[in-house]
Amino acid sequence: MRLARPTRSRSFGLLHIADEARILAPDAPGAAGTHHTDRDGGETVGFSRETLDRVLAQTVLVVPCKDEELRVIRCVVAAIPAACVVILVSNCGRGGARDEYLQQVAMLQAVGGGRRQAMAIHQKDAAAAAAFQTCGMSALLDPADGRIRSGKGEGMLLAVALAAVFRPERRYIGFVDADNLHGAAVREYCRAFAAGFAMSAGAEHCMVRLRWGSKPKLRDGRYEPVAEGRCSRIVNAWLDRLLDPPAARARGGEACDRPRLVTTGNAGEHALTMALAVKLRLAAGYAVEPFHFVDVLERGHLAGLAAGPTAAPLQTAVHVVQIRTRSPHVHRPTDGEHIRRMWAAGLGSIYHCLGPYQAAAMPGTGAGGLTIADFRRDMHVFAAENGGLDGATGELPRPRVYPALEDADLGVFGDVLQAAWATGSLAAFGSGSNGALRGE
Ligand code: GDP
Repeated sequence: MRLARPTRSRSFGLLHIADEARILAPDAPGAAGTHHTDRDGGETVGFSRETLDRVLAQTVLVVPCKDEELRVIRCVVAAIPAACVVILVSNCGRGGARDEYLQQVAMLQAVGGGRRQAMAIHQKDAAAAAAFQTCGMSALLDPADGRIRSGKGEGMLLAVALAAVFRPERRYIGFVDADNLHGAAVREYCRAFAAGFAMSAGAEHCMVRLRWGSKPKLRDGRYEPVAEGRCSRIVNAWLDRLLDPPAARARGGEACDRPRLVTTGNAGEHALTMALAVKLRLAAGYAVEPFHFVDVLERGHLAGLAAGPTAAPLQTAVHVVQIRTRSPHVHRPTDGEHIRRMWAAGLGSIYHCLGPYQAAAMPGTGAGGLTIADFRRDMHVFAAENGGLDGATGELPRPRVYPALEDADLGVFGDVLQAAWATGSLAAFGSGSNGALRGE
């Protein structure tokens, strides 16, 4: 794989963000980590198939799904490189003669021929809820029924816990949405994750976030390429304004005279080193992806500037690698209300996380300039003008933020699920999964 290297980066304490690397040729042969200067003077870097395969063999790939068609999920799972362990976390409806979840489990086994390493769990599984309750993560449970709350972030957290406990030898965890209608793109996403980790040269805390080549929209029976989705356009603009303030020339960062630093605020397709995944606090629902940035900003930078951090400061640098793929992202169309809820959740996660630091200068700027209070005020105005405020509170929605998994007793989490193995709580296939989840 050959990529154009990022051209600039910014650091805020322990948070290091590079702008987009672009995939030039997904399958170009290249010796490990070879660097070149191309004809335009841009730097490129190449990775051999063997290098990427080595990373993929250390990766768990998670597919969170809710109410997706079986044939679409199958297409996604089948496109994931065989070396990855797949974890399907489903929050689909259950019951009836054609139980959707059981069909998904059967599909997972059939796609791998029973040999590829794969697991499936239902988000509302009683043993999974008991495991979180016992290990100290009861915040994840819905008091109404004692089960894990619905939401994408909650499903992802469950997957990280499963990977940490049952596949501890795997160094990386990636996420690919189940509604990818274009299987070839999924293959490129997985290889892009591997290239991102290879670029970060063994960093303990690394996050690789993908931006798609384009997002085709069906208009009047024709596909038109759109560079940025409706939700991403808003969330990226505000994250960019937070982390690269001079780039913002107008409210919301609409007008910029140079490429954005942050282009992956809402990246459903992203991957983390496991060391980082268990340290991050994850936000509920659709706030999960944008909140990655603010959690690291708070715990790796702001916590040292002002009183009132809400979580323990990080101790190790976090590298954010952003990669633009070549493949377009084709997914199920979503309505305007869904988009509005998604960007409001994303902005809410930024707004509320920054609350304790109102008096601080904007990250990376000196005293006397804009403060975080100014930034929050502008964000509030934007949300008010665009229907993003919660009707009951008059505020941007405040996301539920879960404690980092490293604070939970993951050994106990594993014991509870292992004990429930016989009841079929967790389905596991492939070598090392036959009757014993812990890979004996
Ligand atoms: P969009 O594609 O970014 O508009 O967002 P979607 O609503 O399609 O959700 C992104 C991914 O998260 C899809 O694969 C969904 O099936 C999945 N997802 C959404 N809600 C949940 C949930 O409550 N639990 C799980 N496990 N997955 C979810």
